[in-house]
Amino acid sequence: MEKEIIVQKFGGSSVANIERIKNVAQRVVSYKSKHTDVVVVVSALGDTTDELESLAFQLSSTPPDREMDMLLSTGEQISCALLAIAIKELGHEAISFTGRQVGIKTDKTHMKARIITIDGKRINKAFKDDKIVIVAGYQGVTSDDDITTLGRGGSDLTAVALAKALRAKVCEIYTDVDGIYTTDPRIVPDARKIKQITFDEMLEMASLGAQVMQARSIEVAKRFNIPLHVRSSFSKEEGTMIIKETEKMEEIAVRGVTCNKTEAKITICSVPDKPGIAAKIFGEISKQGINVDTIVQNVPHDRLSDISFTVPKADLNKAIKATQIIGSRIGAGEVLEDRNVARVSLVGSGMRSHSGIAARMFKTLADAQINIGMISTSEISVSCIIQQDLADKAVKSLHKAFKLEQI
Ligand code: ASP
Ligand code: MG
Repeated sequence: MEKEIIVQKFGGSSVANIERIKNVAQRVVSYKSKHTDVVVVVSALGDTTDELESLAFQLSSTPPDREMDMLLSTGEQISCALLAIAIKELGHEAISFTGRQVGIKTDKTHMKARIITIDGKRINKAFKDDKIVIVAGYQGVTSDDDITTLGRGGSDLTAVALAKALRAKVCEIYTDVDGIYTTDPRIVPDARKIKQITFDEMLEMASLGAQVMQARSIEVAKRFNIPLHVRSSFSKEEGTMIIKETEKMEEIAVRGVTCNKTEAKITICSVPDKPGIAAKIFGEISKQGINVDTIVQNVPHDRLSDISFTVPKADLNKAIKATQIIGSRIGAGEVLEDRNVARVSLVGSGMRSHSGIAARMFKTLADAQINIGMISTSEISVSCIIQQDLADKAVKSLHKAFKLEQI
């Protein structure tokens, strides 16, 4: 009989200390059996990656990407070795590998490399020897034998890519929350755990601020249709399944409410209203590698209009500088910045067939005396940019208005 393979990924908080590593080891061995082989992917212990990053930035404001990958990849090497030791201590066979040792080949884009191929030979050999395989997440190697990392949160991507390469039956993502919620339970205590969510909804939620999984890993899972089970490493309870289509797809218009406080708003005033101006402004900003999100242009008065847009707070200073330069070149007025903004969004595949969701969102915010600064929509989401200090209130009101506590 062919053995089944399961891939289990444990995030940094699940292996933050020795007790937790022991807990993971227990859990892993409980899945290993005569009929099941287990591959475990681990992240670095707790906040190790942040700490390593901060060491580098104490030496340089622009550490070379190649050296950052040498540095950051060490975190996962520690956790995979420790977990192998803990599993052996329980009397089971286990072996740990780096990304390079299991043949995770990537392109050469340091710090956000893409996986090109995975050669599962070493893993299959270890399975033949009946060993539990532990792989360091978040890393790979280029054709020049340089170590790369897969972008922050990249252990999720390692897990999904291994699940695909090994044709695993299940890919479980263990974390410190017990699934995906209708909104952040710290803001709304009666938020509900979602049983099933689609890849598209999860992608939308991840890009709008829900921080459970790395967005790229969900894209890959979607492309190869690999169901993911997000669950807690501290309980046996079922978590949330991320799948192609959910059972109640048509009925539910809104699956969740997200809130993102990582953006800032820039306004460039009195921009001449003529063709080619927006192209100039946003061309300059994209040249700096800055991602612009929502853009709003006001109705012109006297052939001048104001343009507002949002950028990641981390890029605000760079973006302001670029906007000022281009602004003076095109004869525009002042450039204003506003850090006190938040994006509040509703997400749900059912929006494709339900109408009136946006209108109900605006009415709910109006009733809560919250002013909407900007609006943007996608096929399965509606977002409003509002004042950041009103964001929690907005999330609470929306969660209630769309009866998400009753799902
Ligand atoms: N340790 C890496 C990070 O913190 C990768 C991961 O956790 O998935 O981003
Ligand atoms: Mg981490």
